[in-house]
Amino acid sequence: MKPIKEIFPLLTAPRKVVITTHQKPDPDAMGSSLAMYHFLTSLGHEVSVISPTNWATWLNWMTSSEVVIDYELHADKATEALNRSEWLICLDFNIFSRTKNLTQKLYDFKGTKILIDHHQMPDTANFDYGISDTAKSSTAEMVYDFIVQSGHADKINTPIAECLYAGVMADTGSFRFASTSASVHQMVAFLKERGLEHSKVHENIYDNFLENRLRFIGHVLMNRMEVFYEYNTALIAISKKDLLRFQIKTGDTEGLVNYPLSIQGIKLAGLVIDRDEERKWSFRSKGGFDTNTFARKYFNGGGHYNASGGRTLDSLEKTVENFKMAMKENAELLKEEK
Ligand code: 5GP
Ligand code: MN
Repeated sequence: MKPIKEIFPLLTAPRKVVITTHQKPDPDAMGSSLAMYHFLTSLGHEVSVISPTNWATWLNWMTSSEVVIDYELHADKATEALNRSEWLICLDFNIFSRTKNLTQKLYDFKGTKILIDHHQMPDTANFDYGISDTAKSSTAEMVYDFIVQSGHADKINTPIAECLYAGVMADTGSFRFASTSASVHQMVAFLKERGLEHSKVHENIYDNFLENRLRFIGHVLMNRMEVFYEYNTALIAISKKDLLRFQIKTGDTEGLVNYPLSIQGIKLAGLVIDRDEERKWSFRSKGGFDTNTFARKYFNGGGHYNASGGRTLDSLEKTVENFKMAMKENAELLKEEK
């Protein structure tokens, strides 16, 4: 994979480009994709954005979200865009398997493959150009760097600023995680100068749910959370019945895994959701427990040190049992003071 800066001189000639991101895009995935879309479009490129799956409707306030092609709904349109494009830009994931049914299409893409991402263990052999930096707060911050370092800071307008801010805000837990570097705050200062109304973005992301979602959270915290104080660990398991009862949609469970970490002493939180095709895990930790290694070892997943995910075809009961076993195997790390 050649360094991303070698792409900069190539931005001047108009190209056909596809931007894609991971399945079930979150604010960073969608925000960085749409910011890149606005930026490249403003330079005269012909750009398509493909999401491997649907996304939370509460992301649809982002300018031009309506151009994003849901691969599961419009495979033909997405395939056509891939076939005619010279560049494929992959944002907020680093291995094609994170794009579900789109995976094989990305391997087969004939043009130039470009990576911009901040997760661990990038599959760099499958990219021509790119940057992978696990120290970065968010892919949104990396798209910002891409725009600025390529000499186009003047192209950052309000829609781009809003999309970038949404990504960095979500991925830093509203600027509280350790990844919130001075450069993050410098970027936000610049975005403010370009017309960003940050409180509007906060409201769009955090105050944009329906009543059922809040009732669901109440139910889950009351009835579905187990706390294992001897292992500094908490677990939430959500059945299909719960999802149906509260009419839970894509994105409604976002952030739920963080609640147990607000309990004094809890170092590891696990959340498993019984989706139709798989049981999807989310892991979050505080301090010195590496959820990336944990997710890779036990749940066929990965991510960052303090935030990871995984998946399994086991039943909900079986995977919960496996979690408890894995927790016990990690007792020493979980009990450590740090
Ligand atoms: P979430 O819990 O929000 O789904 O994911 C947390 C973090 O782990 C995100 O940065 C996400 O990209 C990553 N992640 C989630 N699921 C997987 C997975 O199955 N494999 C890998 N490699 N990373 C994942
Ligand atoms: Mn991200």
